[in-house]
Amino acid sequence: MGSETNGRVSPLKGLDYSVVQQCMHCGMCLPTCPTYDATKLERNSPRGRIALMRAIADGQLEATKAFADEMYFCLGCLACMTACPAGVNYAELFEHARAEAEQSGVMTSAKRSAIRSFTLRWLFMEQGRLQLVGRMMRMYQELGLQNAVRKSGLLKLMPKRLRELEAMTPEMQPAFSNEMIPAVAPARGERRYRVAMLTGCAQDLIFSDVNRDTVEVLTRNGCEVITPASQGCCGSLHAHNGEWAMAQQLARQQIHQFPPEQVDAIITNAAGCGSHLKHYAKLLEGNPAYAERAKLWDAKVKDIHEWLVEIGFEPPKHGDQPTQTVTYHEACHLCHGQKITAQPRQILKAIPNLKLVELPESMWCCGSAGIYNLVQPEMAGELLDRKLKHIRSTGAETVATGNPGCLLQILNGARKEGLPLRVVHPITLLAEAYRI
Ligand code: SF4
Ligand code: SF4
Repeated sequence: MGSETNGRVSPLKGLDYSVVQQCMHCGMCLPTCPTYDATKLERNSPRGRIALMRAIADGQLEATKAFADEMYFCLGCLACMTACPAGVNYAELFEHARAEAEQSGVMTSAKRSAIRSFTLRWLFMEQGRLQLVGRMMRMYQELGLQNAVRKSGLLKLMPKRLRELEAMTPEMQPAFSNEMIPAVAPARGERRYRVAMLTGCAQDLIFSDVNRDTVEVLTRNGCEVITPASQGCCGSLHAHNGEWAMAQQLARQQIHQFPPEQVDAIITNAAGCGSHLKHYAKLLEGNPAYAERAKLWDAKVKDIHEWLVEIGFEPPKHGDQPTQTVTYHEACHLCHGQKITAQPRQILKAIPNLKLVELPESMWCCGSAGIYNLVQPEMAGELLDRKLKHIRSTGAETVATGNPGCLLQILNGARKEGLPLRVVHPITLLAEAYRI
């Protein structure tokens, strides 16, 4: 992957040139790009970013700090891909551009290297480490220490940015996925399919209840579900942050742990993970031991909404389900990354007594975008305000969305504004409707 320049590998120079030169500069993507919409600057648009990437690929420009900042100002929301009539593969360009920024070293600082080493190279490389940190956080929260610190006024002594980050600390689940989900959950009634369930990394700590609900819904629909107790990260965080070698290592581990030949489908309920998991063939294309299996893997990975509609899920029977008004926020990596838009709505509409109200700009990014809300708080905050304004306009008491990052971002926004809003995964609503 990549060619040598100045003693280092250039990801953009090594990228297939047919991908680099696809953009015809029409500008159709500009109105759909949240960063361009905010600044109206060409360099903050997909077209402007692609021009910079091409200049590097052509050897007319070296990666600079300004280039790297631009690539990290991009949300990676992929709205531009949906809008593009030329079929520009912005997702591939974006990953190569971030890798270019990292490998050029233009962003390197001791603080940044330490944070990346701790998170990408240590924490997210093994589930056991994540669970250890998750257990410590859980104890801190369950013992009431977090509340005590918040009430004590100690936080006022901290810098503003740290206070903002503290307020975004997610609530840990009382039990993680392996404490709630059996390694093999039998299908209810006749077994129609055998599927593997990915519990995710952050999802496992913060939304393990959604994993439990997903397994319950799958078994209700004739699936035997295999959920290994110990699982790894899918590597999406690494690929989106320019760490290919680690992303490739994690992809190989996933294929090894979930042999695609042995199941009908590999299920994910996290849109960001799903969008990455479906492209292992590209990531491992140069590896003869994995290239073919990765193609099979890609074909077997299914987002939960996509899978349920594909197999013809059973609608919940009418009973005493609560009357509820729900609006649906489309996670970027579900609607733009995987082109899954109709299926979540089909599932929500099948729930008795649930009224689905369309959300204005449902496909506009909420600002979560992986770790974007942590590293670009200003832009992420603007996007969240815009999202909350639209949610309020629907009058819905519940917002459903199929990605842990979006769930957290909207939850945090609602909490900050004191909005009495329930923020929930569509599959949890379906599981609740089945239980009645
Ligand atoms: S990925 Fe999103 S933020 Fe980045 S250029 Fe495309 S539309 Fe704009
Ligand atoms: S819509 Fe596609 S071809 Fe047109 S400027 Fe945007 S990326 Fe380029």
